[in-house]
Amino acid sequence: MSRIVTALAIAFQISLPLQCIVAYRLVKFAGEVKAMEVIARVGDLVLEKDEKNRIFRLISPDFSLTAALINGKQVAIVELRNLRTKTQWISKPVPLFGFSTELNGVQINSLRPSDDGMTFDGFKHEAKNGSINLQFRLRHRRLNVVTTTWLRAFDGTSAIETGFVIRNEGTETVTINGLNSLALTIHHSKPIQLFTLTGGRYDGKFPPSSFVMTERTLADGASCEIFCGDEGRSSARDIAWFALCLASKDSSVTEGIVGGLEWSGRWRGFIQRQGDTVTVRMGATEVVHHLKPNSEIISPSSFLLLFSGDLDDAGWQLHQWQEKFLCPSMPPNFPWVQFNSWFGWATRIDEAILMREADIAANLGCEVFVVDAGWYIGCGIGDFGHGLGNWAENRGKFPKGLKALSDYVHQKGMKFGLWVEPERVDLETDLAKQHPDWLAKRDGRVIGGGRYAHLCFGNPQVVEWFKERLAKVIVDYGVDWLKWDYNIAYGLGCNDATHGHQSGNGTYAHTRGLYAVKAFLRERFPHLVIEGCASGGNRIDFGILRHVHTYWLSDFTHRAANVRFHLTGAWFALPPYYLNTWVVHEGTTVTEFRSRMGGAFGISPRLAQWDKATIERAKKCIAEYKRLRPFILKRRFLLTPQARSLQDWTIWQFHDPESDSGAILAFREQSQNERITVRLKGLNPKKRYELKNADTDETLIQMGEQLLRNGLTIAIIETGGSALWWVKGK
Ligand SMILES: [Zn+2]
Repeated sequence: MSRIVTALAIAFQISLPLQCIVAYRLVKFAGEVKAMEVIARVGDLVLEKDEKNRIFRLISPDFSLTAALINGKQVAIVELRNLRTKTQWISKPVPLFGFSTELNGVQINSLRPSDDGMTFDGFKHEAKNGSINLQFRLRHRRLNVVTTTWLRAFDGTSAIETGFVIRNEGTETVTINGLNSLALTIHHSKPIQLFTLTGGRYDGKFPPSSFVMTERTLADGASCEIFCGDEGRSSARDIAWFALCLASKDSSVTEGIVGGLEWSGRWRGFIQRQGDTVTVRMGATEVVHHLKPNSEIISPSSFLLLFSGDLDDAGWQLHQWQEKFLCPSMPPNFPWVQFNSWFGWATRIDEAILMREADIAANLGCEVFVVDAGWYIGCGIGDFGHGLGNWAENRGKFPKGLKALSDYVHQKGMKFGLWVEPERVDLETDLAKQHPDWLAKRDGRVIGGGRYAHLCFGNPQVVEWFKERLAKVIVDYGVDWLKWDYNIAYGLGCNDATHGHQSGNGTYAHTRGLYAVKAFLRERFPHLVIEGCASGGNRIDFGILRHVHTYWLSDFTHRAANVRFHLTGAWFALPPYYLNTWVVHEGTTVTEFRSRMGGAFGISPRLAQWDKATIERAKKCIAEYKRLRPFILKRRFLLTPQARSLQDWTIWQFHDPESDSGAILAFREQSQNERITVRLKGLNPKKRYELKNADTDETLIQMGEQLLRNGLTIAIIETGGSALWWVKGK
């Protein structure tokens, strides 16, 4: 074993072409597996180490990840292998994936060759909750700063989560700049395809600029930056997600690595290729933190997932990890069919209107009834921002009180939902007047505009006030579902150091404060469902996924083609029950309903103004969605690419491998062709399948092999039409 460590050390120290040495070393290394000792096991996941504590390996049926101590000082990742495809993603030692920052202006990772870097100071591991967490401690000898970097693997998935805690054990304050919890370096000689995804900005064009999947070839010297956007909300520009993929000759993806950052504040990612080396840096940016003696700061977490197959397979594998280890658990029959008052009524809500709407919504089959903005004191029938911060019922609109409406909704068999926007405050309210010191400020100026200001959740007093006030709202009004909106830009964030945070870490502190309030509410009310929203999908990220159950994708929800485009793109990164979209007043055809069925489905019209035929159609469509819902939560296959024009068809196939049944939802927007033939996926070639058209009852029996190879011809006679086929294995 010592021979191997020496070989690693040589490989690291010299920069000559190393491929042949490295390949030999890795083969030799693989040959030494027998000398490794298993020190933890969780399900199919194993952690082993050598007897001298120099080599550590996480192995699952999907991947093998090896970290090694070099020269007794530095820690490197020396192997990252996809065991399904045999692809080795690393050919020479690279820094630990979960740690990169600046200490007093010097860039630091686990592999800085100079003596002024971090050196190995021990390791530990923890096996619990279905995961193994391997941690490396690194110490900066001169500054006496210690980082603990984690590599956490999860049973049953090929995801690895990384990040670090940095603690000052010295006597002088150290300045930390940036918290990159993903510092991935991989090597590959073949072309690599990079995929990125934009966030949920409002855009009425087609194709929209929101939830766009972009593919580019990462050629030698190429680079790509993704980031939250200048306004500061986490997905105003991009989703903190990427995929590095290998492709076959026909350019279809065969395997790769997807990754992302779990953070709802400002962030940045940078991906580049130089020769065979691809690096990815992602982390919380614009964080300058003065770390005092005996204090610590924790980075956001990042994740990586090695997948085999195409991007639909990657999405499915990612969703399985998210569902089991990241997201709050789903209540039964989730995602519930939602009625929301906003698009139909805006602020013109009152007791009589909403009771009548509740009667109809219950009759349609809605499962949760959400009262959106406008229910609080100070809000009339104009700007919904008036009164933000009061967070008490408007008795003018609700003479018997909101609890009476909530009781009525419950009697109708629905859950009761209520909208809030805690981070924005109306300057005319008592909250703003009594606590001017709670407003976020940049260089002495309040962050916001007009009557509104951004509150600073980096201030512990604000966090405590909102925990208490929102808990009161939930208890007093019988709230089962809290919709948390966020309609204000934060820019570079608050730098008022009188708030209890530092001048350089305002967005970091605000994000932690936001998480603290949501975590408190979920612990206090275990059955509470939280819906996220930020003028649409401007803060939909892998950090917020830990704290909310579903997310409103986009305020541009009026055109079915755009909604389908959003659902198609967002699905690659986010679990289907987070993809919340609604039918609004403008369109009520069957196609309009079906276009919102690729995720969490809802309606937001004026129900009282729907005629009898529309009510009957809605009822039928809601029943259809409930039948479709179990399949949507399973596998999706995109049978057509994300549409680039209105001429393109969109076809989703949803399939439950366990019951071997599912459905195909097809949409023809403006295509000249009445028919399209698409190859189905995920079927057993040797089985027979029954396919039934939901509209015509036309039934076909075909072999899986035929459907996989020759495909199914779908006909939609009218432009703007749709088709739904139920698929069942016989
Ligand atoms: Zn502040």
